[in-house]
Amino acid sequence: MALTGIEIFKLLPKTNCKECGEPTCLAFAMKLAASKAELSACPHVSEEAKAKLTEAAAPPIIPVTIGVGGRALKVGGETVMFRHEKRFENPPGLALLISDGMADAEIESRLKKFNDLQYERIGLILRPDLIAVRDDSGDATRFAAVVSKVKQSTDGGIILMSSNPDTMAAGLKVCADRKPLLYAASEENSDRMADLAKGSSCPLAVKASSVEKLAELTTKLTSAGVKEMVIDSGSRSLRQAFEDQVIIRGAALTKKFRPLGFPTIVFPAEMTNDPMKEAVIASIFVAKYGGIIVLSDFQGESLFPLLVERLNIYTDPQRPLATKEGIYEIGKPDENSPVLITSNFSLTYFIVSGEIETSRVPSYLLVKDTEGLSVVTAWAAGKFVADAIAPFVKKCGIGDKVKHHKLVIPGYAAAESGGLEEELPGWEIQVGPRDGSNIPAYLKTWKP
Ligand code: SF4
Repeated sequence: MALTGIEIFKLLPKTNCKECGEPTCLAFAMKLAASKAELSACPHVSEEAKAKLTEAAAPPIIPVTIGVGGRALKVGGETVMFRHEKRFENPPGLALLISDGMADAEIESRLKKFNDLQYERIGLILRPDLIAVRDDSGDATRFAAVVSKVKQSTDGGIILMSSNPDTMAAGLKVCADRKPLLYAASEENSDRMADLAKGSSCPLAVKASSVEKLAELTTKLTSAGVKEMVIDSGSRSLRQAFEDQVIIRGAALTKKFRPLGFPTIVFPAEMTNDPMKEAVIASIFVAKYGGIIVLSDFQGESLFPLLVERLNIYTDPQRPLATKEGIYEIGKPDENSPVLITSNFSLTYFIVSGEIETSRVPSYLLVKDTEGLSVVTAWAAGKFVADAIAPFVKKCGIGDKVKHHKLVIPGYAAAESGGLEEELPGWEIQVGPRDGSNIPAYLKTWKP
């Protein structure tokens, strides 16, 4: 909340009735200022004060949700220009373009790609988020039929792209329950597009030919009662589009300029015909400051790096990326498979699990919670030592899964082997390679 505790206190009833759970209104105001309480906890706050406090509490870039259920995508809600200041909040949505002018077979193939291209990393599923259906046929019936096909084939979010309000209405009729993004309101059609967005409670994309005109249009639409908007400055050259992203983010955050306080949508799909260049352009907008990034097609070799980049940029820089503690099965291990242990620094996990996969020796990988520290750092900090590892090995249940009771520890933690044999009676501690790249050769000669 942008207001101080004292400023908030001035807007509260000052009766100290305690119904909010706090002993005084001042105590409640301080908690509100620190975002540790919700305004709704006070039943006596006036409507006028509520409006002022809600306005002050709104993030400078409003969050917008597209879609419903588990695949709903939230974009916007950002509060900083640079990731090191705090963290970026909501990763940009990656969208695949489908034209209603495409042949049905091509549409089917794109839908299959959208559903198939997903990757599991550190317990997370990395996948694209949205399908943008573009009206190129000029035929509302065809547009609605393609939207219907998309809706039936995937639970991903949907962007309806048409400048014709009648065609938009036809597409919306088919998928309003999926809360699609309506792209786009412009100077020519904004009144009717606003009615469609308000009538269906769907977010509305707004497109103009410059940042200035965009601000005029969002101001008009806000007055008309449209709340959830996504903005497109209309630029289709990398240089101008990138500049617009920086201007929009800066105006919203540092100038508190509400007409530009919305997530953006960008179209690498319309900036080049070269697929590799398109992926590079998309990667620039992942870093700064695309809210939704629309691609002309998906290929594994370009989508995967974008998903990983997005994951990395949108993690909290103040907290190391960590993998969940537990037993990870790689391949289909059985009671005679090797058991290795490592720390829960994600990069370590990626490397070790990748090398085990490369070896093609089904194995159990125990991941010990070291608060996201690598093996050497965790060992030096006393978090990957015999006293910490042994209770985890006993508790995790790996002893019931294998007959041999041999535990392979990282070469860098070799000093812990004696301590572990004392702490884990019945277990043989084996010192594995220091370097992950030596794991495949090591596992190929390992015997239970
Ligand atoms: Fe004050 Fe409202 Fe809390 Fe009562 S419920 S103490 S009026 S803030």
